[in-house]
Order: sequence, then structure tokens, then C-alpha cells
Amino acid sequence: MENPLHSLGYKALNASLEADSADQADSAKLSRRGFMLLAASLTSCSAAAPLKPEGAAPVKTTANSGYRTPSLRGPGLRNPDIALGSDFSKSVGVTFTRVMVSGNYIAITFDDGPHPQNTPRLLDMLRARNIKATFYVIGRSVEIYPQIVRRTVVEGHEVGNHTHTHRLLSKLSDSEVRSELSRCQDAIGRAARVRPRTMRPPYGGLLQRQREMVHAEFDYPTILWSVDPLDWKRPGPGVVTSRILSGTTAGGIVLAHDLHSQTVDAMPATLDGLLRRGFKFVTVSQLLAMKTDAATAQASVTPPTY
Ligand SMILES: [Zn+2]
Repeated sequence: MENPLHSLGYKALNASLEADSADQADSAKLSRRGFMLLAASLTSCSAAAPLKPEGAAPVKTTANSGYRTPSLRGPGLRNPDIALGSDFSKSVGVTFTRVMVSGNYIAITFDDGPHPQNTPRLLDMLRARNIKATFYVIGRSVEIYPQIVRRTVVEGHEVGNHTHTHRLLSKLSDSEVRSELSRCQDAIGRAARVRPRTMRPPYGGLLQRQREMVHAEFDYPTILWSVDPLDWKRPGPGVVTSRILSGTTAGGIVLAHDLHSQTVDAMPATLDGLLRRGFKFVTVSQLLAMKTDAATAQASVTPPTY
């Protein structure tokens, strides 16, 4: 039976989409150009990623691969409904690459969107499998495609802060870092009426001192990753899938990029493969909320009683 809240959510979303249609017509020309400029300035979020050398060909982003989500036969694989809270305390920690949890929970994250074609295609795939993901969005793209961020939130995903213009924060002054995060946070707030709860630094580049400042001033833990398929190098969907399937363990945080069509092409096999292995998808905040530190994990192993 359909959840009535879902239809309500979609009604609200449709209403807001209609309200925005005039804006969109105006911004359509701007959007494509603005997005291409932005995309050309992006390479990846990975710490190990070298910055694109000058003179290299711009990242191709406009042409999609023509991939269509295959229609699911039969019931399809489905992530269980997970009734877990997403509130985590500030004392949970400053930086995470993974989280100690009891259970086969993982969080999959998608960076550098929203993208006008790839993100909606990915959202369809996630919805078909009842999977909730976390999207680290770029503020400048949020301003161009606010309706996609609204849909992302309405469908139960988490949206995190990936800065406004995707610069390497470790090279910036404190006031520039504040501005990058505030502008992205404000863009998300305007688009979807939510405040992000975590951040991911572009290229993973944030000094320890800066992480502590961001945690103190914005309440954002810095979220890195435990699985990096290097999908931004576009190795082909099959390679992206096999790297994620072989690298993912319980409590893991998977890094991927919905900016790249190949990554989205890889998702049906990746998501189904992870579900088949018994992993349960939660958002990053849910993963943090279920964090058990070593002492708690130890204490939860009940000694046998005689
Ligand atoms: Zn990024």
C-alpha cells in the first residue's frame, strides 16, 4: 500500500515545481552554460586525485550515455524499511571515514551534483530499491537546479554540504572556508528548506584545524569515505561496480559521483550486488546516530550467565 505521506510529498513537490516553471524557463539558457563551466572546473573529491593539469581536455558532461534504467522484473531487490533515528550528538566526533556499527549497515554517498540528467536517473534507481542515500551537493549547482534538490529531499535522501564552488579548502583562509560552507548551506535551505548536517570537503582536503573549526561553528562532522571506486576517472561501469562490491564492509561509507553518467550506469548492478550481500543502506546521519564506540561495542557483547 502506498504511504499517504509519499503522495502528500509528491503533491507538495509538484506544486512547487509548477511554481518554479517560470523561473526555470528564464534560467534554462543560463543553466546549461553555468553547469558546463562548473563541471569543467571539477575533477573529483578524492584526496588522491591530482588536480587536472592545465591544457587537459575539459570533462565531458553534456552527453549522456543513453543508458536507461532497466525495468525491474518481479518484485526486485529492495532495501528494508529502516526505522532508525538520524540525530547524532555533537560529541560523536569530528571526522569519519567509516563508522563502527552493530549490523550490516552502510551509507552510499554521491558527490558533485545535482546534475540535470544523471541525478534524476539515479533517484529513480534508488526509489525502485527503497534505498536512501546521501548527496554532497555543490551550492552553485543547487542554485541552478533547486528542483532536483527538492526531489532528493522529498524522496527521503540526505543532502550534505560540499561547498559552494568546490575549491580545495585547505588552501583557503578561515573566512573563505566559512563563506564556501555558508553559501552552500543557504542554497540548500532556499531550495529544499533543510539544513545540511554534515559536510564533505572537495578532494577530501581539509586540515585538522579547519575540521575542528567547521565542527565548532557549523556543527558539521567532516565525512570522508572508506570505499573509493575512482569513478571520476571513468573506468567503465563494470569496474565501478566491482570496486565498490569488493571494497564495502559493514559501517562503510561509499564515495561515488552522480556527476558522471558512467557512475549512474553502474548503480543498478552495484546497488543490487550490495543488497544481495545483505547490506542495509542508511543515510550518513543515521550511520552516525548508530555509532557504537569500542567500549559500547564491548559492553554490548553480553557475557554468558551460568
Ligand atoms: Zn567533489
